[in-house]
Amino acid sequence: MANVAISTELLAQIVAHAQQSPFAEVCGLLFGTPDVIDALERCTNVAAEPARRFEIDPAQLLAAHRRSRAGGPVVIGHYHSHPSGRAWPSATDAADAVADGSVWLIVAGFDVTAWRAVANGAVEGRFDPLALRMGASVARNADVEER
Ligand SMILES: [Zn+2]
Repeated sequence: MANVAISTELLAQIVAHAQQSPFAEVCGLLFGTPDVIDALERCTNVAAEPARRFEIDPAQLLAAHRRSRAGGPVVIGHYHSHPSGRAWPSATDAADAVADGSVWLIVAGFDVTAWRAVANGAVEGRFDPLALRMGASVARNADVEER
């Protein structure tokens, strides 16, 4: 299985973000390279039904892409939580996902799973599973390689 690397610190930040919102989905952007997540940004969920879906604040998304084009961190995907579900893509997620190869992290409780949005994915026709490779030094190594 393909994998994506993340530091234990970033993973803990995602779990903590989700725990602060027991009734509404939280979301955020992921930055790095296609195989390494080395930063994240908490975003506002502007979905009309935040208990059931998420939509990253378009202003935050736009700003992140603008920074990216100016040489800043590259947006590689995003995370969101399932407050009352499991860490698995929902039919709603599949319907909303664009098959652009981006990384999706889904958090439920202490479980975090990783996926890549692709055409004809193994799950819900849209997502291929990614193994999360964890390590404290991952982000630092990625920084060295990237900058
Ligand atoms: Zn979802």
